[in-house]
Amino acid sequence: MNISFQSTRSNQKVSSSLAILKGISDEGGLFVPDSFPSVNVSNLENLNYQEICFSILSKFLTEFEEDSLKEIINKSYEKFSVKEVAPVVNIGNNYILELFHGPTLAFKDVALSILPHLIIKSAKIQQIEDEIVILTATSGDTGKAALEGFSNIENTKIFVFYPSDGVSEIQKKQMTTQEGNNVFVYGIQGNFDDAQNGVKNIFNDNSFKKELQEKNIILSSANSINIGRLLPQIVYYFSSYIELVNKGSIAMNDEVNFTVPTGNFGNILAGYYAKEMGLPINKLICASNSNNVLYDFFKTGSYDKNREFIKTMSPSMDILISSNFERLLFHMSGNNTDLINQWMNKLNAQGSYTIPDSVKNSIDKLFFGSFCNEEDTKNIISEVYKEYNYVLDTHTAVAYKAYQDYLSETNDTTTNVILSTASPFKFTKSVYESIFGIQNQEEYSLINELSNKASLTVPKPIKNLKNSTVLHKDIIPSNAMKEIIEKILL
Ligand SMILES: *Cc1c(COP(=O)(O)O)cnc(C)c1O
Repeated sequence: MNISFQSTRSNQKVSSSLAILKGISDEGGLFVPDSFPSVNVSNLENLNYQEICFSILSKFLTEFEEDSLKEIINKSYEKFSVKEVAPVVNIGNNYILELFHGPTLAFKDVALSILPHLIIKSAKIQQIEDEIVILTATSGDTGKAALEGFSNIENTKIFVFYPSDGVSEIQKKQMTTQEGNNVFVYGIQGNFDDAQNGVKNIFNDNSFKKELQEKNIILSSANSINIGRLLPQIVYYFSSYIELVNKGSIAMNDEVNFTVPTGNFGNILAGYYAKEMGLPINKLICASNSNNVLYDFFKTGSYDKNREFIKTMSPSMDILISSNFERLLFHMSGNNTDLINQWMNKLNAQGSYTIPDSVKNSIDKLFFGSFCNEEDTKNIISEVYKEYNYVLDTHTAVAYKAYQDYLSETNDTTTNVILSTASPFKFTKSVYESIFGIQNQEEYSLINELSNKASLTVPKPIKNLKNSTVLHKDIIPSNAMKEIIEKILL
């Protein structure tokens, strides 16, 4: 079966390599698989992460030769610090899927370690020799992970735009110290939604794209609007399931729940794709922080971004427009591009839309939404540390709380896996102060204290950060993104 990728907003259909290269469809829609290949979970039982990855990706990326895909996968996960890539650890009755053992210590590494290779290979398949320019809006973690992936990759440039006041100290330092002759990093005066809208507007600017084309430049995206970001994320839902089977925690074909700390809805959408491919998932629990647009949606069927943007201690989830939600709505509305256009136009024009009960009911069968405020985030980090001697990062703590809410509301005792999306050291100050109280110390001295008190090794990528040279200092207004890109490229 050959999978094509169709736009959520038109009947445009393209092959996998073109979908990955383009990043976004011609009219601003997102590419989704036009059907879901099925995977028999019991066939994955004795495979390692890379082999499971190949089983999943090869079903979607049918234009890629097997050997070259295998080579790409092996190369991509070499940089992870644990051989399992994404291990499951057990604390109390909870399973935590640790997705933060990659080079930048956030779950974004799982997809962004492989995306550059997929993009380069896609260009080869399409016989495109143009320079590929990657535009990236980031709430903190995508930026660094994409920079790591694309730095010094021949025939590419990468631009990263982050909210200058909306990322953690460590996240900012990770990005502004990035080396490489093809990397451009800017803080913007605005929040993540402003950065993401800026990037989307450039993608939809056809005359600008034409100008670039004349210079043999094409744009692509490293954000989860790119389907090449989502496909590699399906893998760890399968690999963690297999690990639970191997540990004897569940029997093959038992159902499980996954709780996912959510921002742009990319991670949890990959869980939905895993379910569509045959992974026995009962519920996907969508955890938001105080920017709880999705929680309200799950309660009411109305998506309403008209509210204050709140800066939280889980900044990678500080998002009011969850781009990938459009993909879920497309699938749940029976691939209805007219409805998607209607809703997305409304979202653009008035900041909100409401879906009919029929579509809402299908969503409710699989999804549950909850959220966690700042106070509860701190309390969870502290409680879990005191009870299990395990240090959660701020985003994972939000998920932990959402799962507690789910349990008390439903009494559903299906085995649950909490996706842990970042190392606590990326958010040291918030994590440390949640456990040990407010300190008037700077981030870098707290890193050592956290390491000593909690007996955790400071991850390598954090160790040298303090003394690294800041190479990218520019802060620009959010409406100057295109101008900057023009200046450098044209
Ligand atoms: C990006 C990110 C999230 C949110 O993931 P989405 O795919 O955007 O929903 C959660 N936690 C961390 C640490 C992240 O970097």
